[in-house]
Amino acid sequence: MSVPHAPVQRADFDQLMVPVFAPAAFIPVRGEGSRVWDQSGRELVDFTGGIAVNVLGHAHPALVEALSEQAGKLWHVSNVFTNEPALRLAKLLTDATFADRVFFANSGAEANEAAFKLARRYGHDTGGAQKCEIISAVNSFHGRTLFTVSVAGQPKYSAGFGPQIEGISHVPYNDLEALKAQISGNTCAVVLEPIQGESGILPADRAYLEGVRQLCDEHNALLIFDEVQTGVGRTGALYAYMHYGVTPDILTSAKSLGGGFPIGAMLTTDAVARHFGVGVHGTTYGGNPLACAVGEAVISIVNTPEVLEGVAVRSARFTRELTRMGEQYGVFSHVRGMGLLLGAVLTDAWKGRAGEVMAAAQQQDLMILQAGPDVVRFAPSLVISDADIDEGLARLERALASLTAA
Ligand code: PLP
Repeated sequence: MSVPHAPVQRADFDQLMVPVFAPAAFIPVRGEGSRVWDQSGRELVDFTGGIAVNVLGHAHPALVEALSEQAGKLWHVSNVFTNEPALRLAKLLTDATFADRVFFANSGAEANEAAFKLARRYGHDTGGAQKCEIISAVNSFHGRTLFTVSVAGQPKYSAGFGPQIEGISHVPYNDLEALKAQISGNTCAVVLEPIQGESGILPADRAYLEGVRQLCDEHNALLIFDEVQTGVGRTGALYAYMHYGVTPDILTSAKSLGGGFPIGAMLTTDAVARHFGVGVHGTTYGGNPLACAVGEAVISIVNTPEVLEGVAVRSARFTRELTRMGEQYGVFSHVRGMGLLLGAVLTDAWKGRAGEVMAAAQQQDLMILQAGPDVVRFAPSLVISDADIDEGLARLERALASLTAA
């Protein structure tokens, strides 16, 4: 028995929704691989991957099967009981990474909230009440809860929400001397994105992360990597820390982990995890069987040489063509990022106009993203076909041609 649906349109959004988003003019209704169809049947190429989420594209048969199978068995039991998919996913994640322990949440912000609380608890237990200071990077992004906007180094996300959480400082990214000047025995954690995503796809230097690791060790501070955007194969390694050879004490993952189904995870070691005892932190939905069944399928598929090695090949195809177009149309100065998290940086003449490029792409039936006003962002499915890459890039070229002709 299916429930009847009332017809809805894009205009309803402006009447019904709290106005924190300004979605595109069309409503996607169906997706398959890297193609999406809207209400009118218009077909679009998707280079957004739902903002680095749809890691295996839309409606991947293995994910559909994992979700459907679990949906017919057990949806939810709460954390008063554990469940098989959560334990299986935790085993996959701990086998594949530095971590011994996992805490499941429902989003990146919640995974970070858990990480920051755990770091404070660790500081309290090992250095007393004053060891509560968290250092993060200018222009970082960690989510939208009050703790995560306070930790993020972007005042526009925390302004106007009353008193912020105290004991947080921000240092310039990729600047080891600045961190050296700020870190002390009162620091409980340093939090970094291995590639700053929201603020423009800015990768960390290897020497910087190595130096940060050393400073954390010297001051008994935890190193937290926020891999919400970089994790689950996006850079061509399961997690970006593996590329850098720098291991954190806590890692947060979300977005691609569920391939489109909401889930977040905080990964850590035995030694750090023991600072969270029973009842110290919690969640109703975290570790939900449906989410974890999908996560299990995602990790099983992504963490294979076939998928991970394919990321570098696809990345090269994107980078080559974006660089050529950038030069030909004078729109992009260069392409940066790693794997399939790429940013085409606008030239001085086009600075501030990433939104216009996005809109022009939509006119050509292509979905792309921006990362701040000066960078056009690409975060497609890790298994996007060459044909879809080429078709999407051809549509992007038409968009750039029309923009530069105007
Ligand atoms: N951390 C990083 C690095 C992110 O890019 C994001 C989202 O863009 C978040 C945290 C927040 O994740 P969520 O929106 O799932 O809460």
